Amino acid sequence: MKLLENQVAIITGATRGIGKAIAELFADQGANVVFTYVSSDDKARALEAELQAKGVKAKGFKFDVANLAACENMAAEVVKEFERIDIVVNNAGITRDNLLMRMTEEQFDEVITTNLKSVFNMTKAVQRTMLKQRSGSIINMSSVVGVKGNAGQANYAASKAGILGFTKSVALELGSRNIRCNAIAPGFIETEMTGVLDEAMVQQWRDSIPLKRGGTPEDVANLTLFLASSMSAYVTGQVINVDGGMLT
Ligand code: NAP
Repeated sequence: MKLLENQVAIITGATRGIGKAIAELFADQGANVVFTYVSSDDKARALEAELQAKGVKAKGFKFDVANLAACENMAAEVVKEFERIDIVVNNAGITRDNLLMRMTEEQFDEVITTNLKSVFNMTKAVQRTMLKQRSGSIINMSSVVGVKGNAGQANYAASKAGILGFTKSVALELGSRNIRCNAIAPGFIETEMTGVLDEAMVQQWRDSIPLKRGGTPEDVANLTLFLASSMSAYVTGQVINVDGGMLT
C-alpha cells in the first residue's frame, strides 16, 4: 500500500535539490505531482517525464511564487484538472547572502518575497479548496538558520523565521477543519544551493555535525513524506529539524 495513493501534491521549486527529491518520493508513493519552477525549462520537462514514468500524473508550472495572482491561477488550474489539492510543500527558496553592512534593500526584499511571501501566496491559493475538502497538509521549508540565525544571512534567516510564525498560526486557524501545517528545518543539505560554497569550509561543517556528514535531499524528502501522509495525522504546528544533530 502506497502512502499517498491518488493524492494531489503541489511542490514549489522542484526542478532541483530538495524539491526534486520530494517530487520523486511522492510519485513513488502514488501521488500525482504538480510542481513549480522559475527558469529551468529543460529540467522541468525531464522531471515531468520521469514522474509520469512512475505511473502518476505530473505537471510543471513556470512562474514566480512571489506573485500571488500567479499562485492563485495555478491553484485554480490544478483544481480544474486534478479536482483536489491534498498536499502543498512550500519549498522554493533563494539566498542572497551578505553582511548587514553590505546588504542592499533589494537583496533583503528579494529573499523575503521569494522565501516568505511565497508561503503566504501558495497557502492562500489552496486554502479554499482544502477547507471544502476538510483535509490537507501544508509543509513549509524553513531552515536551522531560521531557528538560530546566521551571520551573513540576516535576510534569509528573517524569511525562514517568518515561516515558523506563519506555520504555527495557520495550524491554529485551520486545525478545526483537519488541515495540518508543519515546518521542516533542514540543516546543511548538499545541493546546488550549497555546491557553490568553498570545499574546505564545507568539510569543516561536516566535521562539526554529530552525524559527521551533510544531509541529502532524500533525508529531507523522507520527513516531508511523513508530514504529508496520514502517518502524521495527529501532528500539526510543529517545526522538525533534519540536521544530523546540528542544533543539539
Ligand atoms: P535549489 O537547489 O537552489 O532549488 C531551488 C528551487 O526553487 C529550484 O527548483 C528553483 O527553480 C526554485 N525557485 C527559486 N526561486 C523561485 C521562484 N521565485 N519561483 C518559483 N520557483 C523558484 O534549493 P535547495 O537547496 O533544494 O533548497 C530548497 C529549500 O530548502 C529552500 O527553501 C531552501 O531555503 C531550503 N533549505 C535548504 C538547505 C540546504 O542546505 N540546501 C538548508 C536549509 C533549508 P529553477 O530551477 O527554475 O531556478
